[in-house]
Amino acid sequence: MKDGADGRADVVIAGAGFVGLALAIALRQGLGPRFTVVVADPALGGPVRDGRASAIAAAARRLLTTIGVWGAVAAEAQPMLDMVITDSRLSDTVRPVFLTFAGDVEPGEPFAHMIENARLIEMLTAKARSEGVVLDPGVVAGFDSDPDGGAFIRATLSGGDVSARLLVAADGARSRLRELAGIPAYGWSYGQSAIVTTVAHEREHGGRAVEHFLPAGPFAILPLTGRRSSIVWTERERTADRIVALSDGSFREELQRRFGPELGDIDVVGPRRAYPLGLSVARSFIADRLALIGDAAHVIHPIAGQGLNMGLRDVAALAEAIVDAARLGLDPGGRPVLERYQRWRRFDTMAMGIATDGLNRLFSNRSNALLLVRDVGLGLVDRLPALKQVFIREAAGLAGEVPKLLRGEVL
Ligand SMILES: Cc1cc2nc3c(=O)[nH]c(=O)nc-3n(C[C@H](O)[C@H](O)[C@H](O)COP(=O)(O)OP(=O)(O)OC[C@H]3O[C@@H](n4cnc5c(N)ncnc54)[C@H](O)[C@@H]3O)c2cc1C
Repeated sequence: MKDGADGRADVVIAGAGFVGLALAIALRQGLGPRFTVVVADPALGGPVRDGRASAIAAAARRLLTTIGVWGAVAAEAQPMLDMVITDSRLSDTVRPVFLTFAGDVEPGEPFAHMIENARLIEMLTAKARSEGVVLDPGVVAGFDSDPDGGAFIRATLSGGDVSARLLVAADGARSRLRELAGIPAYGWSYGQSAIVTTVAHEREHGGRAVEHFLPAGPFAILPLTGRRSSIVWTERERTADRIVALSDGSFREELQRRFGPELGDIDVVGPRRAYPLGLSVARSFIADRLALIGDAAHVIHPIAGQGLNMGLRDVAALAEAIVDAARLGLDPGGRPVLERYQRWRRFDTMAMGIATDGLNRLFSNRSNALLLVRDVGLGLVDRLPALKQVFIREAAGLAGEVPKLLRGEVL
């Protein structure tokens, strides 16, 4: 098929976030320049404003390396060398260490890296452009089935309709396309928000991530390059709004109380923003000629830093299903492709959703019974190296049936 500008494309992707862009790149690399991919997103028109950073698990890093993006950001990515989890009250002066994780998934391959979101998006956008993806700075306002006997889906873009074999909803947590497709999402709000900011500190972090499980929820200190760390600080929604509205001095004071003295004095060097937290999993990841990926399909608690990693697993699975079919001359948006994708991803997604939900409940609660469960459970994990290795491989995204791109293999 020819250029997306003439009203036809093989695949139209709504959303130029991490997952939409990564999928577009993987498809062009797997199927060559004759396979037309359009990515539409109004955000393509301006600077990236996301002040967050993400933990990229080893499997997701392999995908980014394989599609040729990691090399451009590697110098700005901080390897995560170990992780320490403490369980305490805010008033405790000494926070007992509960669980430690260290080590590589393979020799010389850390289980995760921290990278600033804006930088990664910039590099994904540049790579998509250089691979010949058609980048359209407008919304996908809707879609309907094409009059052509159901062989196409017609997406409504700002510049006019585009008919495609497949429309991919990569339009984030409040997916308009999921809504228009009439796909319900199961889930709930946690009544918690994550306050995110960046701090500079006096002492080196040595690649260590620290997560303090405080009564209001986890307070994570995640290492960035230089003497800087990204903070993900969970509070009840109303408290979070109040904290974000504090003066600079009072905000820093509240932050330092939770941050602890280990890394010395801190300076807040990034913007602060609160993100309301919830769990949401779409009842189906597919409809006729439509696939949901990333946050459009599932949103989980950031307690384990896995949301984006799950989105990149969707990318790897969907790209492999499309490329395998198209190479055999089969319809890249046909039912068998979509069903293969859904089978691959739904169980894994539900399992991760339930795991992060359980962790959050366990640690945002001070009931004595729950305290006992978590003390015994985590104490056991900490003493059994083989079990820890299982957890590390799970967190790295290398457990289960892993699609090719996540194993570092080209499609
Ligand atoms: C506080 C916090 C910390 C997190 N930390 C981590 C972490 O450490 N590791 C991790 O793996 N995950 C983490 N996550 C989760 C991660 O940020 C998300 O899972 C990820 O950003 C989802 O990417 P996405 O591409 O699916 O969606 P988004 O990044 O939301 O992108 C969606 C895009 O779609 C566009 N769009 C919307 N509607 C339309 C439309 N109609 N037409 C066209 N475009 C449209 C938007 O402009 C946007 O650019 C965290 C989340 C939070 C809240």
